[in-house]
Amino acid sequence: MISVEEALRRILARTPRLPAETVGLGEARGRVLREDVFADRDLPPFHRSAVDGYAVRAACLAGGGRLRVVDQIPAGTMPRVPLGPGEAAAVMTGAPLPEGADAAIMVEDTVRDGDFVVWPAPGKTPPAVAPGSRVTARGAEVVRGAKLLEAGVRVSPAGVGLLATVGKVRVEVGRRPRVAVFSTGDELRHPRTERPRPAQIRDANSHMIAARCRALGLPVRRLGFAADDPGHLAATTAAGLAGDALFITGGVSMGRYDYVEPVLEEAGVRLLVTAVAIRPGKPFVFGIREGSRPVFVFGLPGNPVSALTTFEVFARPALDALQGIADPRPPRPLVRLLAPVSNRGPRRAFLPARVGVSDDGTLTAQPIRSQGSGDIAAVALANALVIVPEDAEGIPAGASAEAQPLPGFPDAGAGWHDPRR
Ligand code: AMP
Ligand code: MG
Repeated sequence: MISVEEALRRILARTPRLPAETVGLGEARGRVLREDVFADRDLPPFHRSAVDGYAVRAACLAGGGRLRVVDQIPAGTMPRVPLGPGEAAAVMTGAPLPEGADAAIMVEDTVRDGDFVVWPAPGKTPPAVAPGSRVTARGAEVVRGAKLLEAGVRVSPAGVGLLATVGKVRVEVGRRPRVAVFSTGDELRHPRTERPRPAQIRDANSHMIAARCRALGLPVRRLGFAADDPGHLAATTAAGLAGDALFITGGVSMGRYDYVEPVLEEAGVRLLVTAVAIRPGKPFVFGIREGSRPVFVFGLPGNPVSALTTFEVFARPALDALQGIADPRPPRPLVRLLAPVSNRGPRRAFLPARVGVSDDGTLTAQPIRSQGSGDIAAVALANALVIVPEDAEGIPAGASAEAQPLPGFPDAGAGWHDPRR
């Protein structure tokens, strides 16, 4: 049995970046950049008015003034005439300032008097106008040629806006791993089964892991579930090895019918991790089917909480690494425990919890009452896994603990309650 760190190290050492591909703006969000992005022009590209109002020479308005309006400049239009002393040009937000102007004043602070504008309007006391007031100078935000985004980061919606701004309509991103998922177990039935027999259960895992992968933006093939039968497992595994990553749940423990490991080895998968000091999830398996296009195989334990935990701790960083994320190790924010948590050692425990933001702005974690690794009802309520170190018997209420964020982290407030109570 190896440590969580050692397992993750082995996995990340073997999950090199997949090749890059070019996508358009519409597909860029959530993808991992594989090239640096530079500014193709200054931003703003001209001295830009930040207000609807008038472009002025600040010096002409010391203590107030009356200026002749010589031009009207909508956004998107170049000024027709330079500004002389005693002159103003009506400008709209985003319009270029005419030559000779060095500031803008807000229309609300003025009154118009025919061809003239008077500042300040009677009864108004706006702040003094200085050179640069309410103007964003050319290049103040970004200088042409500057690096704006770096390879190895995920493109956010604002990042898409930035790509559009610099005319980068085709961008190099990491190819997304194509993922296949199936679960195993003679006891499994399709969720649509209306009356499972007493010893049967509905397949949660293949749906859960497929949903998680889809939430990560990955193309997913869900292959349903396979029986605890070497032949059936081998056939489903062969179908699953067609992509870049395969997730199998169940059948990796010490049970009489746990055939996944021998079936994987038979299929040419070299197993690099076969047990980890993690709770829940000890039987977790990782292997690679080498070849011109390697396939990364994750054998997740069948208990749904174990499957989710090992996915988050081991598979998620690997999926990020494959796309080219510079540092795929998940963040481990500190949270203040609202109730004690315990660990039976000597494994590292990951416990479902609900993390919210308390009134003083700190993160607080409410551990979720759970019957253990089979309790999907508990983990479905979690937005984080609180981590209890290998050598700790527990962490008392009020103390800080590291947490691994799950989707929905953190809640807006600390006022979460368990609907099962
Ligand atoms: P296994 O890892 O195959 O020994 O399964 C461990 C436990 O998880 C057993 O109680 C299984 O019934 C349960 N389990 C396995 N696969 C699934 C699944 N796809 N959905 C829900 N529970 C499962
Ligand atoms: Mg099983």
